Amino acid sequence: MGFSTDAIHAGQNPDPTTGALITPVYLTSTYEQEELGKHKGYEYGRTQNPTREALEKNIAALEKANHGIAFASGLAATHALMSLLKAGDHVIVSNNVYGGTYRLFEQNLTDFGLLYSWVDTSNLKNVESAIIENTKMIFVETPTNPMLVLTDLKGISEIVKKNNLISVCDNTFMSPYFQNPLDWGIDIILHSTTKYINGHSDAVGGMLATSNEEYYERLRYIQNASGGVPSPFDCWLVLRATKTLAVRMKQHQENAIAFADWLVKTGTAKKVIYPGLKEHPQHELAKKQMRGFGGMVSADFGSIDKAKMVLNNVKVFTLAESLGGVESLICHPASMTHASVPKEEREKFGLTNSLVRFSVGIEDVGDLIADVKSTL
Ligand SMILES: *Cc1c(COP(=O)(O)O)cnc(C)c1O
Repeated sequence: MGFSTDAIHAGQNPDPTTGALITPVYLTSTYEQEELGKHKGYEYGRTQNPTREALEKNIAALEKANHGIAFASGLAATHALMSLLKAGDHVIVSNNVYGGTYRLFEQNLTDFGLLYSWVDTSNLKNVESAIIENTKMIFVETPTNPMLVLTDLKGISEIVKKNNLISVCDNTFMSPYFQNPLDWGIDIILHSTTKYINGHSDAVGGMLATSNEEYYERLRYIQNASGGVPSPFDCWLVLRATKTLAVRMKQHQENAIAFADWLVKTGTAKKVIYPGLKEHPQHELAKKQMRGFGGMVSADFGSIDKAKMVLNNVKVFTLAESLGGVESLICHPASMTHASVPKEEREKFGLTNSLVRFSVGIEDVGDLIADVKSTL
């Protein structure tokens, strides 16, 4: 089936008891067992929940994966993912991943003996030369937040296969509508469903998706054993949201292109970063491995004063962390999402104090442009 058809139907059948079209919110912590050792496949709410299962099947279909495993947040999913590893294992990570991922890896999981190399994965040579004897995983985010740097997913999976590693792609920024990492041979996909997948800024959630049976079995075990599961209501909200993922993503992209073009043509920002711009250094790779360019635009205004003028005076954009909702957000990565990344680390990859990140929503784009224009 096509993406929109799957988005609306996959994982969801009318409720067998009433015929209710929409999957109910199964608010229950336990299930009746008919007799000793005999039940309907549902024992306890952490272990199984029908609303959660519907969401897992739905997102798995959109990612063309055999399985989805849902979590209470993107970081809960990341934490569970890292439980595939053990003390002494080494992980190669894209050097400008989501700030919370950096914090979890570097400040928490190093205490449990995991070792990391932070490399610019946009150059595959860096990845190959970072491999050491105990390397077990390559974790990439593409495009990255907020620099929108791409990593060649096919190249990564070739390196991973040669060296018998696990490949992971954080696909939050593109959503399955614009990018399916499994198509390029990636083993496990990670999503913060908080962002585009839910898209309405009213739920926090995470998802892992894979077609590898061994990783699936282990991750399913970890989901239950460590317990970071989402509530049935949050699952229902996200399930409701995926029905419109395709139409939302199309509009996000249409607006982002118009907004980025305006910033470039008027010289409003010193530098505009958007994978859909011909000037983006990886525009060709973007066209090859993604089906679109998404809704995130970063702009360097050249000075902190100018950046502040925009950040503090916009009215339609809201100054807030997060991204991917229908409403446009603006953020200052250096002091907000990436405050936990040391200044020297940040500036190495261009995340300056004058950089502003726009999550372009689906309002009328003319209003978004006028909003930024009015601040300067
Ligand atoms: C937000 C985000 C996360 C973390 O997800 P939460 O749902 O906030 O825990 C991970 N990766 C990316 C790219 C994100 O934007």
